[in-house]
Amino acid sequence: MAIDGRALISGAGIAGLTLAICLKEHGDDPVVVEHSPALPDQGYMMDFYGTGWDVADRMGLTDKLRTLRYPIDKLQFVNADGRPYTSVPIKRIKRALDGKYVYLRRPDLVRILYDRAKELGVEFRFGTEIAELRELNDHVDVTFDNGGRGQFALVFGADGVHSGVRRLMFGDESQFARFLGAYVAAFHIEDHDLPVRRTAQIHEEPNRVAFYYPLGERKLDATFVFRLDEVDVPTDQQLTFVRRAFKGAGWIGEALLDSYKGSAPLYFDTLTQIAIPRWSRGRVTLLGDACGCLTLLAGQGSHMAMAGAYILAQELQRYDGNHTAAFTAYEAMMKPEIATRQEDAAAFAKIFIPTAQSKPWLRHLVTKAMFHPLLLPFAFRAFGSKSILEDDEA
Ligand SMILES: Cc1cc2nc3c(=O)[nH]c(=O)nc-3n(C[C@H](O)[C@H](O)[C@H](O)COP(=O)(O)OP(=O)(O)OC[C@H]3O[C@@H](n4cnc5c(N)ncnc54)[C@H](O)[C@@H]3O)c2cc1C
Repeated sequence: MAIDGRALISGAGIAGLTLAICLKEHGDDPVVVEHSPALPDQGYMMDFYGTGWDVADRMGLTDKLRTLRYPIDKLQFVNADGRPYTSVPIKRIKRALDGKYVYLRRPDLVRILYDRAKELGVEFRFGTEIAELRELNDHVDVTFDNGGRGQFALVFGADGVHSGVRRLMFGDESQFARFLGAYVAAFHIEDHDLPVRRTAQIHEEPNRVAFYYPLGERKLDATFVFRLDEVDVPTDQQLTFVRRAFKGAGWIGEALLDSYKGSAPLYFDTLTQIAIPRWSRGRVTLLGDACGCLTLLAGQGSHMAMAGAYILAQELQRYDGNHTAAFTAYEAMMKPEIATRQEDAAAFAKIFIPTAQSKPWLRHLVTKAMFHPLLLPFAFRAFGSKSILEDDEA
């Protein structure tokens, strides 16, 4: 036990749950508050490997990850009529990553982490969030939006890119937000008859890219990423906004969006990084996307969220009650890792979505080369296949 009193974690996401498990395993007593009323059962598809896999392994969770199965045998880059110009067997990707790779949906990972946290006896409070934080000498006074109050030794803001704890402690998000010039929207489709079977597909066009992931016989997840200047989009306008961005899109893009029966995407946001000079103030610290959002372009946001949580818990243990020293050490370890990945992702943002000037033949050539069996392990190096904890004792 390294914390003198209860710890409060805001956010039952990837960072918050990882931290709750690690703290509990070290003998501490975390409480997790999550503003959603329940765990999500839908969510976007992600690649999971590298540092994320390493942390999951240290937490004894990789057996659970290996049981996740989606009917995806190949990854294909397809033309406007659905013909593949690059086809990559998933086995090749697994081989390049020594078998430590899985396609999963964000809720799969959240569920695995939540189940472990529950097994360990972590307390959860759903449907509530922190309304006020007041730091005193030896604790933090917390008021919740439901009127409840509590005293906590430490408070952790693991509440994502639009973190409430960050706003309360450090001010408005606009000071720390770096817009990368694009939007992302994710959809879940039930009962479709679109021609996507056992193959994850990517279709690129100038200023827009679509990803399709089969989940079952007639179910799929789709992610749409598109370049546009930043504007305020009210929730009830999000679907119209995405439909407009993909008007006339090739392959199944336009048809999928036209036939979508929901009123809004499952997920909608700008591609925005968070770069904040200090992650901690007094007894409060941030982790995960709240202080170091990389965006999906890095392909390793969840990995770094887990690594940050793991290192933070480790440092609290190492400094045995001295939270100031622990927070300083955690920040010194994680911040350079995040900064490098943010720079790489911001550079990648310029080429990830083709422009009207891009040469399709050149992009096809580069894609083919990147996924060549001999080059793939090196390509994954650029996307964090080497764990940042590799040199650390497990
Ligand atoms: C479309 C898409 C694809 C991605 N693909 C990948 C990928 O392939 N690989 C990868 O590693 N990463 C990927 N990422 C990034 C990854 O999802 C994030 O980096 C990761 O989820 C960050 O974890 P987190 O716990 O910090 O935040 P989150 O996972 O966002 O969790 C934050 C939690 O806090 C809760 N919350 C929010 N506000 C409050 C509040 N005020 N009070 C209480 N609770 C609150 C939220 O409901 C949520 O449960 C992708 C992201 C997107 C959007």
